[in-house]
Amino acid sequence: MAVLITGGAGFIGSHLAEALLEIGEEVWVLDNLSTGSLQNIWHLFDNPRFHFVEGSVLDESKLIEAMRPCRKVYHLAAAVGVKLVVQDPLGTLETNVRGTENVLRVALQFGCKVLISSTSEVYGKDVRDGEKFRETDNIILGTAMRWGYACSKALDEYLSRAYWKQKGLPVVIARLFNTVGPRQSPAYGMVIPNFVRQALANEPITVYGDGKQVRSFCWVGDTVNALIKLMETPGLEGEIFNVGNDEPITIEELALKVKAMTNSSSEIVYIPYEQAYGHGFEDIRYRVPDITKLRQAIGYQPTLGIDEILERVIEYERSRRIIAAP
Ligand code: UDP
Repeated sequence: MAVLITGGAGFIGSHLAEALLEIGEEVWVLDNLSTGSLQNIWHLFDNPRFHFVEGSVLDESKLIEAMRPCRKVYHLAAAVGVKLVVQDPLGTLETNVRGTENVLRVALQFGCKVLISSTSEVYGKDVRDGEKFRETDNIILGTAMRWGYACSKALDEYLSRAYWKQKGLPVVIARLFNTVGPRQSPAYGMVIPNFVRQALANEPITVYGDGKQVRSFCWVGDTVNALIKLMETPGLEGEIFNVGNDEPITIEELALKVKAMTNSSSEIVYIPYEQAYGHGFEDIRYRVPDITKLRQAIGYQPTLGIDEILERVIEYERSRRIIAAP
């Protein structure tokens, strides 16, 4: 039976589609092309096992059309990122909550197993000083609108677990931490494509705040392999897993690395958060996953460190610049 990827024309979804086609699956993609794009999946249309339905997870008839031939669903469609929820809170909350509810309801109808993509944002604003986030940690959200995104994804997690507990729908939840790779758009603030494009154009590299905030970046190929294994491994239903890389780096160090690796003459500039995101923005100072649970469940080990990830993203962005040049 086939596999459905909602949001399959997005950055992670398109890599997942590629990986599933490579292992011989029949793949259906449902995407409304809001933040995803046909460009991300052009190369897949030649494959007779690839099918595309343009539509939203909010549109039940499209969802049914795409899910009917499938028995596994990777639910990646969402209004992504903090910037978007600040600009369009209603649209974000509706897509993330009602969209997931639709996916769960229709999956139950067709007897599908579902993988729900959640986010490290759900860990909220709990202050960490070198301590990694574990799946059992408390969630502390603020009242500023930015936290609506985290709240909508947290609600998706509870909904999914309730469907498993009360209706027996097999669901696994993945909390994704800062996934990176080719095709990631900098349009929604994502730091690595932003820094790399700035460096290649010899424009200022914009570090927000003091640059001491810490993240860890995961190669999209590692993320995708983890998602497939979470779907395929029996006995993980109803569980939540961190999916990421656990190597920490400050954003300032990241800027210096990108500058050095691109031989750029860019200056590194520090932009106050207020200027970058508007008034009242709260950043997360330290966000790194504990991946013990994932390692134990599926034998997960990230394959690429930050230097190799940057090398690949730089190569991709360089080739994009050549294609885009007049
Ligand atoms: N950031 C930055 N410059 C940029 C874009 C982002 O300094 O041009 C910072 C951002 O404030 C955050 C970190 O880089 O502290 C990671 O941002 P991103 O949006 O990629 O992911 P987040 O971890 O915030 O979801």
